[in-house]
Amino acid sequence: MFTPLLDNQHFEYSVGKILCIGRNYAAHAAELNNPVPDTPVLFLKPSDAACDLRQPIVIPENKGSVHHELELAILIGRRLTHATPEQVQAAVAGVGLGLDLTLRDIQSELKDKGLPWERAKAFDGSCPLSPFVSASRVEDWQALSFTLERNGVVQQVGHTSDMLHPILDLIAHMSASFTLNPGDVVMTGTPKGVGPLVVGDTLEATLGNWLACRTRVVAV
Ligand code: ZN
Repeated sequence: MFTPLLDNQHFEYSVGKILCIGRNYAAHAAELNNPVPDTPVLFLKPSDAACDLRQPIVIPENKGSVHHELELAILIGRRLTHATPEQVQAAVAGVGLGLDLTLRDIQSELKDKGLPWERAKAFDGSCPLSPFVSASRVEDWQALSFTLERNGVVQQVGHTSDMLHPILDLIAHMSASFTLNPGDVVMTGTPKGVGPLVVGDTLEATLGNWLACRTRVVAV
């Protein structure tokens, strides 16, 4: 069970499910030679995927490449089902960052066979999450920026203005198929610049001037 921090306090709910979108940034879809779909590609990670981004990141051994995908993460504060974007806005508790860790070689095999992605995306510890800051700080959801540095080199820079599906509309759309409960987290897709992690890497993830998390990659 993982209970996130919101404004430096433990949130009242632990993380339930994590609802994710694939291909929400055109430049990332292009770097993996994926078409940009009209309907968002959605997938889930279970609660045991959640862990603390500030703790050392454990990557699976002997499962091929493990890619980092740094994404804006949204912490849900109130139940949402068949919600409007206005209802979503009122229900979001916090904003932070998450790593959608992906076993890229396994995902490629699964994609080639037309099989589900869970083995590549939903394993234990596959979603390290930063602390969250209150959503009340956000004036414009599509004007946020975030950065991932690996070993001191910038790998990913995300601007939410580049999203194909804006955050509040996306969560409203998700809630028509998947009820979101307090403690659930939405991962809003990765910008380009994904790449493999190696044991010993140091990572720094930054969300504007609201938060910065340093961590490192370790073996099992
Ligand atoms: Zn992702």
